[in-house]
Amino acid sequence: MSASASIDVRDWIRDIPDFPKPGVLFKDITPLLSNPDAFRTSIDQLEEQFRDRGVDVIAAAEARGFIFGAPLAVRMNAGFVPIRKPGKLPYATIAQEYALEYGNDRLEIHSDALAPGRRVLLIDDVLATGGTMRACCDLVNSTGAELIACAFIIELSFLGGRAKLEPSEVFSLITY
Ligand code: AMP
Repeated sequence: MSASASIDVRDWIRDIPDFPKPGVLFKDITPLLSNPDAFRTSIDQLEEQFRDRGVDVIAAAEARGFIFGAPLAVRMNAGFVPIRKPGKLPYATIAQEYALEYGNDRLEIHSDALAPGRRVLLIDDVLATGGTMRACCDLVNSTGAELIACAFIIELSFLGGRAKLEPSEVFSLITY
């Protein structure tokens, strides 16, 4: 039996109550990242799900999306496109505003990073309310690229984020 077969990724997620503020149960992925077999298994499982889908670009928002997006891109022989907070990308950008609990935030992508004909898989660690990933979907769609799916390590289904991402396909390794 391979190491991957004996690992349940769920066992490597740690719950931190009241972080970053009271009432939030934070899903901490650092135990998963610190165990090479568990980390590799999470990438194996994402690759298995999407290997036959003709994905040629993985795109992900900083910071934790990068942690899973970059190794998945290498594994799938795809490119990697970073989606960043305002003012971080050096070349011309396009931007998408999105709502936070209090106020708005913005995500940016290089204007030449995607184009019609590119087949894009979006990745993040956690799907919570879906606001962050909705903004990522809108950025990808605005370039004319084809959004194949949104993939997550963890989905907090009670927050209803999946509905916010319609009509995109949503895949999660672990659902709470
Ligand atoms: P969302 O509400 O879906 O826009 O989530 C915003 C971002 O915050 C996601 O990219 C997650 O990485 C992070 N996040 C939200 N809620 C949690 C949580 N309970 N535990 C860990 N990360 C979270």
